[in-house]
Amino acid sequence: MTETLAQIVAAVGKDVADAHRGAGKVADYIPALARVDPNRFGLAVITCEGETAEFGDSWMPFSIQSISKVFTLTMALERLGEDLWVRVGREPSGSRFNSIVQLEAEKGVPRNPFINAGAIVVTDAVLACRTPEDALADIRDTIRRLADNDTIDVDKEVAASEAATGFRNYSLANFMRGFDNLKAPVEDVLQTYFHQCSLRITCRQLARAGLFLANEGVDPLNATRIVSPEHARRINAIMMTCGHYDASGEFAFQVGLPGKSGVGGGILTVVPGVGAVAVWSPGLNDVGNSQVGTLVLERLASRMGWSVF
Ligand code: GLU
Repeated sequence: MTETLAQIVAAVGKDVADAHRGAGKVADYIPALARVDPNRFGLAVITCEGETAEFGDSWMPFSIQSISKVFTLTMALERLGEDLWVRVGREPSGSRFNSIVQLEAEKGVPRNPFINAGAIVVTDAVLACRTPEDALADIRDTIRRLADNDTIDVDKEVAASEAATGFRNYSLANFMRGFDNLKAPVEDVLQTYFHQCSLRITCRQLARAGLFLANEGVDPLNATRIVSPEHARRINAIMMTCGHYDASGEFAFQVGLPGKSGVGGGILTVVPGVGAVAVWSPGLNDVGNSQVGTLVLERLASRMGWSVF
């Protein structure tokens, strides 16, 4: 008898949880992240047919952090189209996610939309001429709509701590403003950026929110077009090449799927034509990706035969 998706997700989740739960080091640059229980572990899969399978803490909200960059990139591409690529590149950086050295050499144009400098430019593009409050409401409502859940909201404590400790992000933003690659005032862009990173989301909601990327830009469960097929392909390509900081090549090698991780310990992964997967385990590896999350994705992708290659 062939196993169902739910059985495979439960079996892979349990195997990995039993052997590795709690591994890695929880982000500790701000108190609200440092006190997250390292033993939390959630996994959620949703297919383009609407089949769902979950394991563990898939219902529990965590800090979205850099995974929010997928959704702001989606919004900025719809807003600016190809003009976005004048302001931000699409090459893996090979430098740390918050590096300023490369930015100087490349005259204020960040390598890609997922390193911090690139994400800040993307947020500036989403901000357009609006107030940070309006832009943030737009980002939050977009994610709520995609996740089909109206409860997703900002953790104000995290947002305040991000702002209080975000010296490097202030440096990057000021530097780019000096190159005229930010249009709005630095404070407005960064307040929006810090708040988007502080949204709380569950694995279940995150997988649902990313599902349109598995279906050429159309949400398969309500037939709404979110982005053009070209933009969906490009977002997936950037997730594949740049979604895991300096370990993006390793993730492509081991998992073979577009993915984006965040320092909250979450990872959103797209299985083109099939569905979306979200995992959460707060302990990070040396590169800043969820250690157990990466492992469970390797196992699940291999077990399901999922890969774009
Ligand atoms: N809020 C974080 C920062 O910009 C995002 C970190 C991340 O998930 O990469 O520093």
